[in-house]
Amino acid sequence: FFFSPAEFVKSATNLSMIPDNTMIPEVAFVGRSNIGKSSLINGLVNRNGLVKTSSKPGHTRMMNFFKLGDKLSLVDMPGYGWKSRDEWGGMIVSYLQNRKNLRRIYILVDPSHGLKESDSQIMKLLDSSGLSYQVVLTKMDRLSKTKYSAAKAEIEAELVKGAICCFPLVLGVSSKTKDGLDELRAAIVKAGQL
Ligand code: GDP
Repeated sequence: FFFSPAEFVKSATNLSMIPDNTMIPEVAFVGRSNIGKSSLINGLVNRNGLVKTSSKPGHTRMMNFFKLGDKLSLVDMPGYGWKSRDEWGGMIVSYLQNRKNLRRIYILVDPSHGLKESDSQIMKLLDSSGLSYQVVLTKMDRLSKTKYSAAKAEIEAELVKGAICCFPLVLGVSSKTKDGLDELRAAIVKAGQL
Protein backbone atom coordinates (compact mmCIF):
# COMPACT_ATOMS: atom_id res chain seq x y z
CA PHE A 1 0.00 0.00 0.00
CA PHE A 2 1.45 3.32 -1.06
CA PHE A 3 0.57 6.80 0.15
CA SER A 4 0.05 8.23 -3.30
CA PRO A 5 -1.85 9.31 -5.24
CA ALA A 6 -3.91 11.36 -2.86
CA GLU A 7 -6.89 13.39 -3.86
CA PHE A 8 -8.90 16.09 -2.21
CA VAL A 9 -12.45 15.01 -1.49
CA LYS A 10 -14.09 18.01 0.11
CA SER A 11 -14.08 20.59 2.87
CA ALA A 12 -16.79 20.47 5.47
CA THR A 13 -17.99 23.34 7.61
CA ASN A 14 -20.91 21.45 9.09
CA LEU A 15 -21.84 17.85 9.84
CA SER A 16 -24.05 17.38 6.81
CA MET A 17 -21.09 18.16 4.55
CA ILE A 18 -18.92 15.35 5.90
CA PRO A 19 -18.39 12.75 3.15
CA ASP A 20 -20.40 9.62 3.41
CA ASN A 21 -17.44 7.31 2.68
CA THR A 22 -17.63 5.40 5.93
CA MET A 23 -16.45 2.18 4.28
CA ILE A 24 -12.93 3.60 4.07
CA PRO A 25 -10.76 3.58 7.21
CA GLU A 26 -10.09 7.13 8.33
CA VAL A 27 -7.44 8.86 10.39
CA ALA A 28 -7.60 12.48 11.53
CA PHE A 29 -4.89 15.00 12.35
CA VAL A 30 -5.32 17.60 15.05
CA GLY A 31 -3.05 20.14 16.70
CA ARG A 32 -2.58 23.76 17.58
CA SER A 33 -2.39 26.26 14.76
CA ASN A 34 0.99 26.45 13.08
CA ILE A 35 2.04 23.07 14.45
CA GLY A 36 3.03 21.85 10.99
CA LYS A 37 -0.12 19.91 10.16
CA SER A 38 -0.50 20.98 6.55
CA SER A 39 3.18 20.39 5.84
CA LEU A 40 2.96 16.97 7.45
CA ILE A 41 -0.06 15.79 5.47
CA ASN A 42 1.51 17.02 2.24
CA GLY A 43 4.73 15.22 3.17
CA LEU A 44 2.92 12.00 3.99
CA VAL A 45 1.21 11.84 0.64
CA ASN A 46 4.13 13.34 -1.26
CA ARG A 47 2.11 16.11 -2.71
CA ASN A 48 3.11 19.66 -1.99
CA GLY A 49 0.16 21.94 -2.08
CA LEU A 50 -2.50 19.29 -1.50
CA VAL A 51 -3.17 20.89 1.86
CA LYS A 52 -2.63 24.60 1.63
CA THR A 53 -0.06 25.66 4.19
CA SER A 54 -0.59 28.59 6.53
CA SER A 55 -2.03 32.01 5.61
CA LYS A 56 -5.47 30.51 5.14
CA PRO A 57 -7.59 32.67 7.43
CA GLY A 58 -10.96 31.68 6.06
CA HIS A 59 -10.06 28.04 5.81
CA THR A 60 -8.89 27.31 9.31
CA ARG A 61 -12.34 26.31 10.48
CA MET A 62 -12.90 23.64 7.90
CA MET A 63 -12.38 19.94 8.09
CA ASN A 64 -10.64 18.87 4.89
CA PHE A 65 -11.07 15.33 3.64
CA PHE A 66 -8.57 13.56 1.38
CA LYS A 67 -8.43 10.02 0.14
CA LEU A 68 -5.82 7.63 -1.08
CA GLY A 69 -7.66 5.55 -3.62
CA ASP A 70 -10.42 3.65 -1.84
CA LYS A 71 -8.05 2.55 0.90
CA LEU A 72 -7.66 5.38 3.32
CA SER A 73 -9.28 8.66 4.22
CA LEU A 74 -7.24 11.44 5.83
CA VAL A 75 -8.81 14.35 7.65
CA ASP A 76 -7.14 17.67 8.27
CA MET A 77 -8.93 19.04 11.32
CA PRO A 78 -9.06 22.75 12.12
CA GLY A 79 -6.37 24.06 14.47
CA TYR A 80 -7.46 24.41 18.07
CA GLY A 81 -8.90 27.71 19.04
CA TRP A 82 -12.42 26.39 19.08
CA LYS A 83 -14.24 25.81 22.30
CA SER A 84 -16.24 22.65 22.80
CA ARG A 85 -19.33 24.63 23.70
CA ASP A 86 -19.58 26.75 20.59
CA GLU A 87 -21.28 25.54 17.47
CA TRP A 88 -18.03 24.82 15.66
CA GLY A 89 -16.47 22.85 18.50
CA GLY A 90 -19.73 20.95 18.78
CA MET A 91 -19.40 19.81 15.19
CA ILE A 92 -15.90 18.51 15.77
CA VAL A 93 -16.81 16.73 18.96
CA SER A 94 -19.79 15.19 17.21
CA TYR A 95 -17.63 14.08 14.28
CA LEU A 96 -15.03 12.52 16.59
CA GLN A 97 -17.59 10.70 18.69
CA ASN A 98 -19.77 9.42 15.88
CA ARG A 99 -17.51 8.69 12.93
CA LYS A 100 -17.66 4.91 12.57
CA ASN A 101 -14.62 4.55 10.32
CA LEU A 102 -12.34 6.76 12.41
CA ARG A 103 -9.46 4.48 13.38
CA ARG A 104 -7.08 6.87 15.04
CA ILE A 105 -6.51 10.54 15.76
CA TYR A 106 -2.99 11.88 15.41
CA ILE A 107 -2.27 14.67 17.84
CA LEU A 108 0.58 16.87 16.64
CA VAL A 109 2.73 18.43 19.33
CA ASP A 110 5.77 20.69 19.03
CA PRO A 111 8.54 19.13 21.15
CA SER A 112 10.03 22.60 21.74
CA HIS A 113 6.82 23.64 23.48
CA GLY A 114 5.63 20.40 25.05
CA LEU A 115 2.03 19.45 25.79
CA LYS A 116 -0.31 22.38 26.13
CA GLU A 117 -3.66 22.74 27.83
CA SER A 118 -5.45 22.43 24.47
CA ASP A 119 -3.66 19.12 23.82
CA SER A 120 -4.68 17.82 27.24
CA GLN A 121 -8.26 18.87 26.59
CA ILE A 122 -8.55 16.94 23.37
CA MET A 123 -6.89 13.91 24.97
CA LYS A 124 -9.44 13.99 27.77
CA LEU A 125 -12.23 14.15 25.24
CA LEU A 126 -10.79 11.22 23.29
CA ASP A 127 -10.17 9.20 26.47
CA SER A 128 -13.72 9.73 27.63
CA SER A 129 -14.99 8.64 24.21
CA GLY A 130 -12.71 5.60 24.02
CA LEU A 131 -11.01 6.83 20.85
CA SER A 132 -7.48 5.76 19.98
CA TYR A 133 -4.96 8.51 19.49
CA GLN A 134 -1.23 8.80 19.00
CA VAL A 135 1.11 11.71 19.62
CA VAL A 136 3.37 12.90 16.80
CA LEU A 137 6.14 15.38 17.55
CA THR A 138 6.63 17.79 14.65
CA LYS A 139 9.56 19.87 13.37
CA MET A 140 12.15 17.48 14.82
CA ASP A 141 14.83 19.15 12.70
CA ARG A 142 14.63 22.24 14.88
CA LEU A 143 16.11 20.51 17.92
CA SER A 144 19.43 18.80 18.46
CA LYS A 145 19.20 15.04 19.01
CA THR A 146 19.86 15.50 22.72
CA LYS A 147 17.23 18.20 23.17
CA TYR A 148 14.72 16.23 21.12
CA SER A 149 15.23 13.10 23.22
CA ALA A 150 14.84 15.05 26.44
CA ALA A 151 11.67 16.77 25.20
CA LYS A 152 10.23 13.45 24.02
CA ALA A 153 10.99 11.79 27.37
CA GLU A 154 9.24 14.61 29.21
CA ILE A 155 6.14 14.32 27.02
CA GLU A 156 6.08 10.53 27.38
CA ALA A 157 6.27 10.91 31.16
CA GLU A 158 3.24 13.23 31.04
CA LEU A 159 1.30 10.80 28.86
CA VAL A 160 1.99 7.85 31.14
CA LYS A 161 0.27 9.71 33.96
CA GLY A 162 -3.17 9.41 32.52
CA ALA A 163 -3.61 9.39 28.77
CA ILE A 164 -5.74 6.26 28.67
CA CYS A 165 -6.37 5.73 24.98
CA CYS A 166 -2.98 6.99 23.90
CA PHE A 167 -1.05 4.59 21.69
CA PRO A 168 2.17 4.05 23.64
CA LEU A 169 4.57 4.90 20.84
CA VAL A 170 5.32 8.61 20.42
CA LEU A 171 6.55 9.34 16.91
CA GLY A 172 8.74 12.18 15.70
CA VAL A 173 8.68 13.74 12.24
CA SER A 174 10.20 16.50 10.21
CA SER A 175 8.38 17.54 7.08
CA LYS A 176 11.49 19.46 6.15
CA THR A 177 13.97 16.57 6.21
CA LYS A 178 11.30 13.83 5.78
CA ASP A 179 12.62 12.09 8.88
CA GLY A 180 10.04 9.89 10.56
CA LEU A 181 7.52 10.01 7.71
CA ASP A 182 7.96 6.32 6.86
CA GLU A 183 7.41 5.36 10.50
CA LEU A 184 4.25 7.46 10.62
CA ARG A 185 2.98 5.94 7.37
CA ALA A 186 3.59 2.48 8.81
CA ALA A 187 1.72 3.43 12.00
CA ILE A 188 -1.23 4.71 9.96
CA VAL A 189 -1.31 1.53 7.88
CA LYS A 190 -1.46 -0.49 11.10
CA ALA A 191 -4.06 1.73 12.72
CA GLY A 192 -6.21 1.50 9.62
CA GLN A 193 -5.50 -2.23 9.27
CA LEU A 194 -4.86 -1.65 5.60
P1 GDP B 1 -0.36 24.22 10.24
O1 GDP B 1 -0.87 25.58 10.58
O2 GDP B 1 -0.41 23.31 11.42
O3 GDP B 1 -0.97 23.60 9.02
O4 GDP B 1 1.21 24.39 9.96
P2 GDP B 1 2.03 24.53 8.61
O5 GDP B 1 2.25 23.20 7.99
O6 GDP B 1 1.41 25.57 7.77
O7 GDP B 1 3.43 25.00 9.17
C1 GDP B 1 3.57 26.13 10.01
C2 GDP B 1 4.97 26.70 9.88
O8 GDP B 1 5.93 25.74 10.36
C3 GDP B 1 5.39 27.00 8.45
O9 GDP B 1 6.16 28.15 8.46
C4 GDP B 1 6.20 25.78 8.04
O10 GDP B 1 7.17 26.08 7.06
C5 GDP B 1 6.86 25.40 9.35
N1 GDP B 1 7.11 23.95 9.40
C6 GDP B 1 6.22 22.96 9.19
N2 GDP B 1 6.79 21.75 9.31
C7 GDP B 1 8.10 21.97 9.59
C8 GDP B 1 9.22 21.10 9.83
O11 GDP B 1 9.15 19.88 9.79
N3 GDP B 1 10.41 21.70 10.11
C9 GDP B 1 10.54 23.06 10.18
N4 GDP B 1 11.74 23.55 10.49
N5 GDP B 1 9.51 23.90 9.96
C10 GDP B 1 8.30 23.37 9.66
